[in-house]
Amino acid sequence: MWRHYVLLALQRFFHRRQCWMGETAQMADYSPTNTILATLDNDDRRVFATELEVNTLAPHTEMYVTNGTIEQVYFPLSLVASTMIGTAALASIGNEGMLGFELVLGIEQTVGRTVVQVAGRALRMNARRFCAQLEQSPRLARVVRSYVGVVIRRLLISGACHRTHNIEQRCARLLLQMHDRVGNDSFTLTQQFFGEMMGVRRATVNPALVDLKTRGLIDYTRGRITIRDRTGLGSAACDCYRTMRLASERLTEAAGS
Ligand SMILES: [Zn+2]
Repeated sequence: MWRHYVLLALQRFFHRRQCWMGETAQMADYSPTNTILATLDNDDRRVFATELEVNTLAPHTEMYVTNGTIEQVYFPLSLVASTMIGTAALASIGNEGMLGFELVLGIEQTVGRTVVQVAGRALRMNARRFCAQLEQSPRLARVVRSYVGVVIRRLLISGACHRTHNIEQRCARLLLQMHDRVGNDSFTLTQQFFGEMMGVRRATVNPALVDLKTRGLIDYTRGRITIRDRTGLGSAACDCYRTMRLASERLTEAAGS
């Protein structure tokens, strides 16, 4: 847990520092910040400050198409996006990561379509400029490769979670992950999203959400979730939440040191 607070302190320090240095409005004007951007050194930050653009994207916006070319990379600040194969969501990414990370492996083609699940902001950068910076900065390449490791671990844990834990535990895990990403106690999340993320029908998700609401852990009205008792939600969630978070914190820490 202490690693989480160290990372938060690091992110806040960099955010304040950007404001002090008077960097571009795009780099200074965001909160909560993106974990990968928070690990950049000064040289990378100077380049990124001139290249990044703030995007505010609505739900269901298509960020990548299936078998398309990655033209832009995105660093979510408050939005959450999911990569879909058919109707199944393979992975969701928020401010703990980036979209277009495959470029560090030399992969320029997308495997599925990526859509915005929770509206919000992301910083966008041209993919060619990003690749050029990967060539220039071994540290940046190391950070992004580490993030690829995080994604692989999350996918493996998620696959095991799907086979081992019940719908309510998985709903609680998903809610905690969303809460971490959006930086707000209240956010919009449809039952369709839960179904896509958990590989079940929407009707299967509803009783689990009702139960969490009855226990006073969340409010859920017309697709709007409000986290009422995060500690209680942590007890309701399976250990996969903590395992995923620890994997992410350890790799990010190692890459940023
Ligand atoms: Zn689980």
